[in-house]
Amino acid sequence: MYVADEYEALAETALRFAKDKLLPRYQQREAETRYDPALMREMGALGLIGPELPEEFGGLGLTNVASGIVTEAIAYGDFNVAYVQSSGSLLGQVLARSAEKALAQEWVPKIIRGEALIGVGLTEPSAGSDAAKVRLKAVRKGDRYVLSGEKTSISSADQADGFVIFARTGTVEDGARGVTAFFVPGDAKGLSRTRFDDLGSKIVGRGSLFFDEVEVPVEHRVGGEGKGFYEVMSGFDFNRAIIGLMCCGAAQASIDETWRYVQERETFGVKLAQHQGVTFPVAEGEALIAASRQLCLHTLWLRDAGKPHTSEAAMAKWLAPKSAFDVIRQCLLTHGHYGWSMDLPHQQRMRDVMGLEIGDGTAQIMKLVIARESLRRTRP
Ligand SMILES: Cc1cc2nc3c(=O)[nH]c(=O)nc-3n(C[C@H](O)[C@H](O)[C@H](O)COP(=O)(O)OP(=O)(O)OC[C@H]3O[C@@H](n4cnc5c(N)ncnc54)[C@H](O)[C@@H]3O)c2cc1C
Repeated sequence: MYVADEYEALAETALRFAKDKLLPRYQQREAETRYDPALMREMGALGLIGPELPEEFGGLGLTNVASGIVTEAIAYGDFNVAYVQSSGSLLGQVLARSAEKALAQEWVPKIIRGEALIGVGLTEPSAGSDAAKVRLKAVRKGDRYVLSGEKTSISSADQADGFVIFARTGTVEDGARGVTAFFVPGDAKGLSRTRFDDLGSKIVGRGSLFFDEVEVPVEHRVGGEGKGFYEVMSGFDFNRAIIGLMCCGAAQASIDETWRYVQERETFGVKLAQHQGVTFPVAEGEALIAASRQLCLHTLWLRDAGKPHTSEAAMAKWLAPKSAFDVIRQCLLTHGHYGWSMDLPHQQRMRDVMGLEIGDGTAQIMKLVIARESLRRTRP
């Protein structure tokens, strides 16, 4: 794991917490349907949720790089618990930056303390990659908006305490310009939720949200009307690097366990570690994850420096989940028939990281973004 001097203490706290509190129950936690509130509060007390969020809301006011380092450490212990930090950082930043002061003051401190989990609702049954096509309607009636429609594939749908929801305030022809973001509390009247039976990240509880004339006050609008995509979604570049680091953390845990294993098991009279055919693929894994990590951290560093980072974020979001999946698969294979058992964590890590090859934008969409940015940069 990358640790610059200034982040050493924070990284050590996060990694110790991950190894002592998260890793031993990573597999058991898969059978649970919600995060343990005490565990979330402990993360909050240690400064492991949204460490970059402003001090006025109870954050540590650190950098996006610091947030990335914490995320990777948590994911080393439990990929799915890292969702608490990643969504806390993403949506804490969105609310701190774009919500009305009173709304931000009500929710951001709770996110940081681990007392509230917030989800984000963009995807709909007929709008995924083509996110600007969202149809869920928000109609203004006096000092309120009334939301009607459906969101699907929403992480933490059935356990989040609130959601940032993207809704259409303009016409479908307006495209992205007709989309506005709103904060909707989880207990809003008319909101119902479901939970999917997923291949991985089961505790996260991806599901659908149904809005049956859900009313929110005008003060719950996040950013300007029609500005949802431009003001709020810029946070998604941050999230892409953070997702990359989640995947690096999970892969690094499998790599470290594999290095230990090859020094214990023997074949043909020597330890597995003596066979270069065994160690070279794991060494390749180290290199792939180190490169992915550096790209993610570089993206966050660019963001901290106020420099463009959309292309780097898309590269990170493509490279890291893909590399992590491939590397964990190699680690599983290196454990021979033991690796194929549900007793070892590699199968779960493989399933868990694969979800984020899709979530927050697929490989193809990341490549579209990279190509678009590169074509713009090199326009003749
Ligand atoms: C684990 C997980 C967590 C998620 N969490 C959330 C969440 O919290 N909130 C939320 O709003 N959404 C969430 N999602 C939804 C996710 O963002 C979407 O699934 C994703 O954006 C892809 O949309 P889609 O599934 O509708 O696929 P589609 O858009 O239907 O795409 C299907 C396939 O076609 C490809 N494709 C589509 N268009 C093109 C093109 N122009 N060129 C090349 N290939 C293309 C895609 O890459 C994909 O392989 C989550 C998904 C997963 C799996």
